[in-house]
Amino acid sequence: MPNIISADWKLEMSTFARQTVNPHRLMVETSKVVPNPKKKVLTLQLGDPTIFKNFQHPPEAIDAIKNALVKDSFSYYPTNGIKEAREAVADYVSKNGDQVNADDIILTSGGSSSLELCFYVLANPGENILIPTPSFNYRTWLHGPGIISKTYKLDPTKNWCVDLKDLESKIDNKTRAILVNNVGNPCGNVFTKEHILDILEIAERYRLPIISDDIYEHFVFPGVEYYSVASLSKNVPILSCSGLTKRFIMPGIRMGWISIHDRHDALKEIRKGFTQMLGRNFGPNCTVQKALPEILQNVPQTFFDETVKKVQLHAMTAFKLLKNIKGLIPIEPRGAFYMMIKIEFENFPKFKSDLEFVEALTEEESVKAFPGGPCFDFAGYFRFVLTVPLDMLIEACQRIQEFCERHYMNINEIENFEPVQTQEISIQNQINKIEIAIY
Ligand SMILES: *Cc1c(COP(=O)(O)O)cnc(C)c1O
Repeated sequence: MPNIISADWKLEMSTFARQTVNPHRLMVETSKVVPNPKKKVLTLQLGDPTIFKNFQHPPEAIDAIKNALVKDSFSYYPTNGIKEAREAVADYVSKNGDQVNADDIILTSGGSSSLELCFYVLANPGENILIPTPSFNYRTWLHGPGIISKTYKLDPTKNWCVDLKDLESKIDNKTRAILVNNVGNPCGNVFTKEHILDILEIAERYRLPIISDDIYEHFVFPGVEYYSVASLSKNVPILSCSGLTKRFIMPGIRMGWISIHDRHDALKEIRKGFTQMLGRNFGPNCTVQKALPEILQNVPQTFFDETVKKVQLHAMTAFKLLKNIKGLIPIEPRGAFYMMIKIEFENFPKFKSDLEFVEALTEEESVKAFPGGPCFDFAGYFRFVLTVPLDMLIEACQRIQEFCERHYMNINEIENFEPVQTQEISIQNQINKIEIAIY
């Protein structure tokens, strides 16, 4: 009998696992880039305002969870969530201007699960869903089971509006849905009513449903109007994904939901699909479900107003400071808590990609930000998180200024420098580079 315990007994991971890549988490949790030991590390990477305690979750929510904890039976709850919580979400969602009821609500474990559930109910392997570029890491959920992501462009020169021609050109006979993210991450884009109607017109013409990632709903700076996609849709069915994560500043609570805004019964079969898929248990834990009605009813409008005002101050401050740095073009956000900053590579011949730029920024200045290519599928930019404490944000901008001044070259200098490599490094290459760093 041969000895089967041998060095070549190695197990392979599944294709599903191999195709599931979350570049944000990889970057935060496994990056091997060493910050400058002489400078305190300033981390502007994950969109989590709770990290530095300068943004607090609403006290009413904590009270609600404490109350629920005492009363809860810790039972298995229905897979779509308990009725009283779904009713409370239906009331909350209906305030956006499109009436839904408890049967139109599904509770999920955070916003990510609500998106995942929509993707899996709508698309088969080999079919595609249109997502924006730049965008959140929707690919993490799409690519595992072999759903294809096709991207449509947002235009940085037009307030990050959707390039409608590009969107339409990407639709093919395997497209199952269009994903719209308004208010958006990483751009802070807020679409006007007219623009949303234009997107809806295309969706209607091609008979495609919209998955509306509404996790930053209402998170717009003072003076900017917010419209939900569902409230403007006459004929296009909308699956809206939201939750407590961002607006209520409770990312770790893992409470998300889908609201189903059907039109002409188009989603009859899709509702059955949700029921099927929910058998896999996507739901949030029982105690948070119990607490949800109280959270949604008791958190006052002033909490949201104050949070948004504070983020706007951070955004304006960072924008002013970055605008004066030669070689960078910050794009002003109108909501959410991020800002995208363009790198003028022709003036930084030393760096061939945003990943290289951001890595050098960490090594020299101990400032950590997410590179646009690997993290948001938008090369040439990096993203700033605006919810860090203001003094930290200002210091990060100052260090970036020093960094840029050190590396900036004008055209004459560049002529004597090695040629600029204009070829864009593909996303897959950049992801591979991160993966190689771990495995
Ligand atoms: C944060 C975020 C989500 C949801 O995140 P969860 O932590 O899973 O609730 C969804 N979409 C975007 C664009 C986000 O930034």
